Amino acid sequence: MSTDYYQVLGVSRDASAEQIKKAYRRLAMKYHPDVADTPDAADKFKQIGEAYEVLHDPHKRSVYDRGGDPLGNATGGFGGFGGGAFDFTNLVDAMFGAQASSRGPRSRTRRGQDALVRLNLTLAEAAFGVTKPLRVDTAVVCPKCNGGGANPGSSPVTCTTCHGQGEVTQIQRSFLGDIRTSQTCPACRGYGTVIPDPCGECSGEGRVRSSRTINVKIPAGVNTGNRIHLDSQGEVGPGGGPAGDLYVELTVAGHDTFRRNGDDLEVVVKVPMAAAALGTEVEIATLEAEREDLAAEQGTVSVTIPAGTQSGTRVAVPGRGVPKLRGGGRGELGVTLLVQTPIKLDDEQRELLRQFAELRDESRPEVAAAKHKGGVLGWLKEAFS
Ligand SMILES: [Zn+2]
Ligand SMILES: [Zn+2]
Repeated sequence: MSTDYYQVLGVSRDASAEQIKKAYRRLAMKYHPDVADTPDAADKFKQIGEAYEVLHDPHKRSVYDRGGDPLGNATGGFGGFGGGAFDFTNLVDAMFGAQASSRGPRSRTRRGQDALVRLNLTLAEAAFGVTKPLRVDTAVVCPKCNGGGANPGSSPVTCTTCHGQGEVTQIQRSFLGDIRTSQTCPACRGYGTVIPDPCGECSGEGRVRSSRTINVKIPAGVNTGNRIHLDSQGEVGPGGGPAGDLYVELTVAGHDTFRRNGDDLEVVVKVPMAAAALGTEVEIATLEAEREDLAAEQGTVSVTIPAGTQSGTRVAVPGRGVPKLRGGGRGELGVTLLVQTPIKLDDEQRELLRQFAELRDESRPEVAAAKHKGGVLGWLKEAFS
């Protein structure tokens, strides 16, 4: 052996395996005949390969270090580089890191995808919770073959093209030696087995589409955009694989009288003028009135109207809004009072009001523009909010 392998790779005699690999990778890339254009690149590349072949193998390296011929016992000797003994995978391993040498056949069974369906709710359903039937259309396990994909009585057989490996190896001869490339077996598409008699129901897919109705439990306090997550109710995977999850996206409809603001409910009620002036107590129908199970006990709420209430006053009723989704009580019910001026008056009522106005010296009142916070813009904002 006249070649100094350490010199070829440019490493010291006590170089680590990692240093040897690095040096080889760097040089192999530099002198690879595909990229190098110097005339001696091919020779150089061959030398580098030979040096690496010896030094990266602890046994061969120790033989070499003791002055022996590390390649003397190799089948055919390393002289056969151009003829096919060089293992090309060394180069690939060194360049791209060692890969699992065999991937093996892939499974026919894979997890299915998640599914998304939308569900519309009334405000009362969203606020107080409900269990609703929901029609779902997803892939389910094929009832005829139970997901296996083979007609009953038959079963998958080992692929004769790849002998169950799922991949086929091709060997190409080149001046680098034999180049082995593996690719997915075209006959079985990598499964390692073929189904000679595919299930007539699912054509071998192991799953079929099906509609079903499930009951979805909606917790109290949900809002538009919330999603309910149902484990394993999504699409069944190929080969009858485990189902993905199902997400139910909620949309809450508007309401004729109640408006939702976060966890609060807002309602507007009309109050007669005299009641607003004198103060009273009124019963207001609540959102719970729409629920058979809640109407009896919570269908109304009593609201105190203080004497001298102005139109537009908001009275808050704590704890009668929407239950908080994550627990911890409810928002408030905001009752905005609109004071109503009487429209139709009989003679007696008109007379009493005239006397009332005289008593208060309001027969010909002096009026002045009211000042609002925030000037004209603030007033406009109030008017349109
Ligand atoms: Zn089937
Ligand atoms: Zn195959």
